[in-house]
Amino acid sequence: MNSSPTELLPNHLGGQRHVGTGAGTTLFDPVLGDALVRVDATGLDLAGGFERVRTLGGSALRALSYRERAGLLKAVAQVLQAGRDAYFALSTANSGTVKNDSAVDIDGAIYTIGVYAKLGEALGDARVLADGEFVALAKGGAFGSRHVQVPTRGLALCINAFNFPSWGLWEKAAPALLSGVPVVVKPATATAWLTQRMVQDVIDAGVLPAGALNVVCGSSAGLMDALQPFDGLSFTGSADTAALLRRHPAVAERSVRVNIEADSVNSALLMPGATPGSAAFELLVKEVAREMTQKSGQKCTAIRRVLVPEALYGAAAEAIGARLARVTVGNPRNESVRMGALVSRAQFDAVQAGIAQLQRVAETLHDGRGAALVDADPAVAACVAPVLLGSRDPDAHALLHTTEVFGPVATLMPYRDLDHARALVARGEGSLACSLYGEDDDAAADALAATALDLAEVHGRVHVVTPAVAALHTGHGNVMPQSLHGGPGRAGGGEELGGLRALNFHHRRAAVQAAPTVLSRLTPPTPSAA
Ligand code: NAP
Repeated sequence: MNSSPTELLPNHLGGQRHVGTGAGTTLFDPVLGDALVRVDATGLDLAGGFERVRTLGGSALRALSYRERAGLLKAVAQVLQAGRDAYFALSTANSGTVKNDSAVDIDGAIYTIGVYAKLGEALGDARVLADGEFVALAKGGAFGSRHVQVPTRGLALCINAFNFPSWGLWEKAAPALLSGVPVVVKPATATAWLTQRMVQDVIDAGVLPAGALNVVCGSSAGLMDALQPFDGLSFTGSADTAALLRRHPAVAERSVRVNIEADSVNSALLMPGATPGSAAFELLVKEVAREMTQKSGQKCTAIRRVLVPEALYGAAAEAIGARLARVTVGNPRNESVRMGALVSRAQFDAVQAGIAQLQRVAETLHDGRGAALVDADPAVAACVAPVLLGSRDPDAHALLHTTEVFGPVATLMPYRDLDHARALVARGEGSLACSLYGEDDDAAADALAATALDLAEVHGRVHVVTPAVAALHTGHGNVMPQSLHGGPGRAGGGEELGGLRALNFHHRRAAVQAAPTVLSRLTPPTPSAA
């Protein structure tokens, strides 16, 4: 263990750099246990800083058109591209991820920024968005109404979870900046280093107006108090913290707009008619094993429940277990390692406890935890090998449907028919993503489409995998900026991304009622944010 004092990372708020005056919280390498850096926000004037963000960053951004702000996003992407190698090194050190998993976070972010840059370019020189058409309010249309969306004059406070320090920042920041709204990001402490470095690099490169992009690391104390009525809060994290934030006076009394992405017990469903070894069966097995192990299962969208026709329970357990048995776990610096660590020893303990809790109501179908770690000390490293659980009676235990173990863990369950499967999926009380696995013929396509529509009510996204798209589909858990990310119920009820839909959160919709001569001057004929 390294015991020399570590660097204290500065915060950046409202065009000013601020180093916390406290001792700070230390960030660790979750594989080696080394102390890396410290974060601290003690002494930071949040109210004053937030006001500078609104006035300095907000006005500079709003003075630009969507096309000009798209240009800023392109410049940000170039800065990040240049720092890519350093970001991968930080990711290995602070998140314990193998290269492919770091890429999901880092390259996923750069891709997302690029998509918003393109979308912004297409909005052209407009500064407000049209929302719907002219509606007559008087005979002959001499008086009427039009809706417009104007960028809010507040800021976007983005409070993020530990699992995506890069993507989590940029999937929120890109739509906000494109909308003309400045961003304050508060990364989760355990993995704050990568977020802080990226923000600092973009600020140092001078590609954004002062105050447009800001980072506050360390304690979250006081952040919510500093929010004003026209600010937005975009939160990703646990349902418990989300419930706390919803009750805060900023939300409950000052009507700060809030978007919440929280826990989710997502599912994968093998359609009826599959047989062991059939194409759909194999696609499910492959995707479940991938989802369980990518980022060590620390994805809010990861598959947690696997539903198969009851006759296939044994065959699916065997096939998924066989794939998981091939996953080498340990130090991500060793090229033979396929799966690295969880983000911290605290998460290690939480995942072990979660597995033990589920094991009280489920059988263990595969447990990789007996195998030795590669190049890692099991007493230090936060590495947990994949565990597949199973329940032959999934109706009997609510825990199976409501417990999110945030690691490489999933539970297999048999279903009798599609009605039963739908009922089981819905017991997750609202999820981010569900994937369906079926064949390509017309009858299968009919059933897949009907099931997707049925399940759409309890999900933000339904992902359908068939042999024709085996090599093309984007993955059950991969969040694409073109598609909606969020989910109803326990998933938080939020909506992010989904192309230009993401801009809605950062705009205020208003109706203007006037004569057509006035209304025709409100907006150029631009695409609307829908
Ligand atoms: P968490 O403990 O709720 O923390 C999330 C963020 O909230 C962190 O930045 C944390 O800061 C901050 N925070 C904690 N208490 C706060 C308070 N009182 N006021 C303001 N901010 C506060 O969640 P986590 O353990 O980091 O993340 C894991 C969870 O996130 C999982 O359950 C996962 O399902 C969920 N998640 C959801 C999505 C999604 O898109 N739906 C994506 C990723 C993760 P500190 O770190 O400094 O405490």
